[in-house]
Formats: sequence, C-alpha cells, structure tokens
Amino acid sequence: AKERGRNRWELHRPAASDPAVDRLRALGELRRGIGEGALRVHYQPRIDLHTGRASGVEALVRWQHPTRGLLPPSEFIAMAEESGLVRPLGAWVLDETLKLAESLRRDDRHGAGLEFAVNLSARQLNDPGLVDMVESALERRNLDPALLLLEITETALMSDPGAAVESLAALKNLGVGLAVDDFGTGYSSLTYLKKFPINELKIDRSFIMGLGLDSGDAAIVGSCIDLAHAVGIRAVAEGVETSGQAQTLQDMGCDLAQGYLFARPLPEPRLREWLASHT
Ligand code: C2E
Ligand code: CA
Ligand code: CA
Ligand code: CA
Repeated sequence: AKERGRNRWELHRPAASDPAVDRLRALGELRRGIGEGALRVHYQPRIDLHTGRASGVEALVRWQHPTRGLLPPSEFIAMAEESGLVRPLGAWVLDETLKLAESLRRDDRHGAGLEFAVNLSARQLNDPGLVDMVESALERRNLDPALLLLEITETALMSDPGAAVESLAALKNLGVGLAVDDFGTGYSSLTYLKKFPINELKIDRSFIMGLGLDSGDAAIVGSCIDLAHAVGIRAVAEGVETSGQAQTLQDMGCDLAQGYLFARPLPEPRLREWLASHT
C-alpha cells in the first residue's frame, strides 16, 4: 500500500517542461497579472528635430512578473495577441497613458501640449469595439483627441488592408492621430499608403542603425523621409543611438526622433524628472 501511494504521487507531479502546460500557466499568470495591476507603462520621449525639444512620449508596456522580474513586451505581447488578452491589456495601457496625459496637461511648465503615442496590435485593429473603447477612454479624462497618436505596424495594416482602412477612418473621425510603425519592414504599396488616413511614418530602427555605415540604409531612410513629406505627413526615426545618426536625420529633414541617445523608456516618476530638465 505504501509503494502504491508513492507511485500515485509521482504520477501526479506536474510535468515541468511540457510546452503546452507552460503556455497555459503563462497565460493564466498574464490574465491574473492584468487583473491585479502587474502591468507597468514606461514612456520614451519623442524629440522634435527642428527645435530639439520633447514633443511627446511613446507608451511601452512592461509586465512586473511575480518571480521573473520586469519583462519586456517581447516576452508576452505575442501570447497576449494570440489569446485575445491584448484587448484588455491595450485598453489598460491607453487608460494609464491618458491618466498621465491628463495630469501633465495641468502642469503647464512641462507637459502641456505633449503628444501621447500608444501602440495598437493587429488584433485590436480588427476589434469592432476599438473605436468606442478609444472614444470613452478620451472622454473619461476629458482630453483633446489630437493629443493621442495611435501607432500601428505596417504588417498589421497590410494583413487586411480593406478592414484597416475602415478602422483607421473611424479613428481618424474621432480626431486622433495615426502613425505607421516599423515602416519599411512590411510590404505596403504606395496605393495603400495613400488610402490610409495617416499622420506619420515611423522608420524602423533597423534602417536607422545603418546610418553612417551602410549607404543603402541611408538611401532608404532618405526616401522614407521624402515619401512622408511628399504626401504631407511627418517622418519619425526610431532607435536613434548616436549623435551622428541624429545629425544625419536632421540634415535629411526628418521631423522627430526617439532613441537611447535622447532617453530610454522611463517609468512615470523618472519621465517627470526628465521633462522638468528638458522642456
Ligand atoms: P516599437 O513600437 O517599435 O517600440 C520601439 C522599441 O525599441 C521599444 O522596445 C523601445 O524600448 C526600443 N528602443 C527605443 N529606442 C531604442 C534605441 O535607441 N535602441 C534600441 N536598441 N532600442 C530602442 P520595447 O519597449 O521592448 O517594445 C517592443 C515592441 O513591443 C514595440 O516595438 C511594440 O511593437 C510592442 N509594444 C510595446 N508596448 C506595447 C503595447 O502597449 N501594446 C502593443 N500592442 N504592443 C506594444
Ligand atoms: Ca511603436
Ligand atoms: Ca496628433
Ligand atoms: Ca520598431
């Protein structure tokens, strides 16, 4: 009887390395984490290259995991996207960011007039409830929709361009700004670029990295900036790490830049300090 009892215990010991079990456990943890306030938003300043001043921030989500520490989006966004959890996650990030926007707006020394950029996933873009969600989030904080900029990757836009045109038109109607993120990494045709009611092209970091090293990358970055200006929208460079890159972008007429050269994504208290010394 003793032996049998021990074997039964062995059988019920959880299999530690079953990927399906790990995935389910991680999903459960993320769902609980969202409910229990374990998400954090860090904010990376966006610099106006014409004035050298901060013109806004981009919200970037993190997950304060109970045992694994502060996790970057690469550890959980894909899972959130596949499971649909990205909807409550995205709604929370938007609300958190607009809460900061509301509080900074009252501080007219540093923060009034800043733009707040928030990332949207493909799954959110296809959510029929998206426009209402964004509208009520703005109303809750009584904010001017023009202060909000939604970033959508080129790949997400092109996965269903027809549906994307409709969602973007509805968002545009609310008065929010729209940016095409990771521009240059997908396959958007110029025809679609013209159809999307966008305000901004964000040139992918992979091209910015090559500035000064690879003449092909410089040509691509230059063409993206010219393309943006030809259709009357702003060009933004992400992942600017050196002053050489910033100088080249300025010479090319790029409008805005983000990157470690200026500031890393910062938790709210550190963002406030940064803004106080940079605006
Ligand atoms: P992204 O939207 O292209 O964001 C830029 C990423 O580059 C961020 O990584 C940022 O921390 C990083 N970065 C900024 N400046 C530099 C630089 O100078 N050098 C380098 N090497 N990296 C830089 P992060 O925060 O890990 O976010 C990764 C991606 O996760 C984002 O890429 C975005 O696609 C996604 N993401 C982040 N927050 C959200 C969110 O709230 N919702 C959704 N759906 N996606 C999000
Ligand atoms: Ca982005
Ligand atoms: Ca705007
Ligand atoms: Ca990117």
